[in-house]
Amino acid sequence: MEQILQAGLTELGLPTAGIPALIRYSELLVEKNKVMNLTAITEPADIATLHFLDSAALLKLADFKGKTVADIGTGAGFPGMPLKIVEPSIRLTLLDSLNKRIDFLKEVCADLALTEVDCVHGRAEEFAANHREHFDIVTSRAVANLQMLSELCLPLVKEGGYFLSMKSVDSEQELNDAKTAIKTLGGQVEKVVDYTIPGTEVSHRLIFIKKMKKTDKKYPRTFAKIKKNPL
Ligand code: SAM
Repeated sequence: MEQILQAGLTELGLPTAGIPALIRYSELLVEKNKVMNLTAITEPADIATLHFLDSAALLKLADFKGKTVADIGTGAGFPGMPLKIVEPSIRLTLLDSLNKRIDFLKEVCADLALTEVDCVHGRAEEFAANHREHFDIVTSRAVANLQMLSELCLPLVKEGGYFLSMKSVDSEQELNDAKTAIKTLGGQVEKVVDYTIPGTEVSHRLIFIKKMKKTDKKYPRTFAKIKKNPL
C-alpha cells in the first residue's frame, strides 16, 4: 500500500506526509469491516486506489486549502477523510444517516489525532435546517442520483462555493436529468472533469456545481417528497 500511495500522490502532485495516517486508516477500516458493513473493497491495493487516491484526486482538481468542507453520505469516510488527511488545513464535517458509520469515523479521528473534524449523525435534508449556505465546498460520492442529491447538498453550500459531485464517466443522462433541479436550487454546472485514478485504468468524473444564489427556503423538502417528486 505504501508504494501505491507514494506513487499515486506524487503523480497527483500532492504531499505524501499523510501516508502513515492513510495506512493506519486502512487497517482500522479492514478491522471494523469484519464486524460491520463499511466497504466491499478490502484488498489493501484496492483501498489505496479506489478509496484513497480516488478521493485525494479531488485535491488536484479544486482548491480545498483552508476551506470548510462537508462530505454528505460519507459512509466509511469517502471522499472526506482522505481529503483531510492529505490536506490538513480543511475544516471538515462528515455526515451520514447511519450512526454506526459515524461512530467508526469518530474512532478514526481519535486514533489519528485529527483536529477540526466534525462527525455528525444525521440526514442531509434535516442537517440543512441549521447549516444553510454554510460550507465552501460540499462533496458526495455514491449517495443518490444527481437530481435528488442536488436538493440534499446545494442548500448547504455558500454563495460562490461549490458542490462537487463524484460520478461515473457515463453520467451524461443523469446530469441532464438534474439540470432543472440544479438551477432551481441556485446552482450552475461550471465544468465536468474526467480523471483517471493513478495506478489504475479506472476513470471517474467530478461535476463542479457552483452556487450562484441562495437556495429558496422551501428546499430541501422531506426525503419522501424529494423522492416522490424530484425537482
Ligand atoms: N460516500 C461513501 C463512499 O463513496 O464510499 C459512502 C457511499 S454509501 C453507498 C452511501 C451512504 O450515504 C451511506 O452510508 C448512507 O447511510 C448515506 N446516506 C444516504 N442518504 C443519506 C442522507 N439523506 N443523509 C445522510 N446520509 C445519507
